[in-house]
Order: sequence, then structure tokens, then C-alpha cells
Amino acid sequence: MECKEAEDLLPAYALNALTSEEVSQVEAHLATCLRCSALLQEHLQVVADLALAVEPVQPSPRLKARLMKQVDRTARRPESPRRLVPSLPTVALAGASLAVLLVAGVLAFTLRTSGQVDQLHDDNEALSRQVNLLQDNSSALGEQVTLLRNDSQFLSERLNLVGQDTSKMSMYVSQLADDDSKFLNALRMQRSMTYMLASPETQVLYLGNHDGSSSGEGMLMMNSGMGAGILVAAGLKALAPDQAYQVWLRKGTEIVNSGRLQVDEFGWGLLWLRPKESVAAYQWIGVTVEPTESGPIPSGTVVLSSSMTH
Ligand SMILES: [Zn+2]
Repeated sequence: MECKEAEDLLPAYALNALTSEEVSQVEAHLATCLRCSALLQEHLQVVADLALAVEPVQPSPRLKARLMKQVDRTARRPESPRRLVPSLPTVALAGASLAVLLVAGVLAFTLRTSGQVDQLHDDNEALSRQVNLLQDNSSALGEQVTLLRNDSQFLSERLNLVGQDTSKMSMYVSQLADDDSKFLNALRMQRSMTYMLASPETQVLYLGNHDGSSSGEGMLMMNSGMGAGILVAAGLKALAPDQAYQVWLRKGTEIVNSGRLQVDEFGWGLLWLRPKESVAAYQWIGVTVEPTESGPIPSGTVVLSSSMTH
């Protein structure tokens, strides 16, 4: 017999309501199962409590009279073989009390079981509330995680932007420094030019255009005291990217390169001339169009030129 079967039979066993065959089966199981033995103790306790709980019923006078009459009648039949066995009312009463006990026991068991079912139901509800709460918490957590992830992404985008800004700023600052140094150079050149123009030693030479296909003219301010000069050109056309204006000075048969003349988008160009010897030592100045990688002597067209003989 399994525990399940035994459990089903235990209430009836406690109430002595099993067949002898069932009793021996249950007892065989009880001999090997501590759990069911414990259960049986509970059932026995319930039955004992029930026996106390059932209030003694005072039989009505009519019932009492009938019962007494029955007893009397039985007692007046000495010849009856039934005298040797328990009298009928006794058996009936025993049967009746057993039935009452049985019904009450089953009722109590049912009540107990239904109480347990209620308890289980309550537990189940509490559990399902807990599960709902956990689900809510989990969902809230999930939302928090999503928010955090968004924040993190937002922050990393901000950081990228800040990084880009920083890089732009540092480029801008270095550009400013560049501009600053260019500006300082321009100022110094301006100062030198002012000095040169104000100096009575300064001569101004006009450089004519010798290229029929283009316009342009130049002025050379040269100061023999300073040994330097400034070439200013105007109206020069823009060159191809692989070409450049080169300035040359000639003394006798010696020709030296004096630098590249940068021309802006308006055709203006300015070059500071500081040859090794004084600029006054030279007899000719010319501007040619050369390839960007210029050689040591001019090879291209002469655009502007002037004699420097005094
Ligand atoms: Zn068992």
C-alpha cells in the first residue's frame, strides 16, 4: 500500500470503520511509514476531540419510552437465543453512535481539509502577489537599466562632441597663434617699410611688364644703407598650382635667386629682398614664371624686370 492510499483510509481507520482486510493493509503500511503513523496520531486526536465535542443528547420521553419498552420486551424473552448475544438495542445504539462518530469525523476531516485548502489558497494568493511584485520590480529595474543605458549613450555622445570641440578649439588656437605670428611679421615688415619709405637713402624702381600676354607691374624700394629692398607687385595673374613667380638679381654674369613672390587673389605680391651682398650691388632685377621646383637659374618667361643701374 502506498502513502496516498493509506492517507485516504486513515480517517476511517481512526474511526474503526474499515473492513478487517483494509485494517490489516493499513497496519502493514503503518508499520513501515513514520509519516502515516504521525498522521494517524492526528486523526486519533481529532476523533478523541470529537467524542468530547459531541454533546450528550437527552432522548425525548417518547424515544426513551420506546427504548425502554424494547428493552423490557427483550428481557421478557428468556427463551430467546438472542439473550446470549448483545441485545438488539445495544447493537443498534452502538451502531448509531459509530455512525454519528463517523459522520462527525468525516465532517471534521472535511473541515480540516477545507481549512488547509483555504490556507493553501491564501498562501497561493500571497505568493502570486509576491510574484507580481517581483515582476513589477523586475520591470522597473529593466526600465532603470534602459534609462541608464540611454544616459550612458547620451554622455558618450556628449563626450565625443566635447572631444570634437576640444580638437576644433585647439586647431583654432594654433590657427590664432599662426595668425598672431603672421600678424607680428606683417607688423615688423610694415615698420621696416615705413622706415625704408621715410629714409632719404631709399630709391624706388619701377618694374615694367615684359610679358605681352599678361598685365602686372612692380615697384622695388631699395635702401643701400640697409642693404635690403622690398619688391611690391600688382596686377599679376594667378598661376597654375605647379607654377610660381621667382625673383632674380643679376650682378655681371652672376644670377641669384632672391625668393618666391607669393601673389594673392587680387594679384598683389610682396617680397622682402635680403641678398648676401647689399641689394645695391646688383644691376638687374627680374620676375619669372617657373615650375614650383625651381632650378638655380631662371628658365621661364620674364614677367617683370628693371635695370638697377644708378
Ligand atoms: Zn505512508
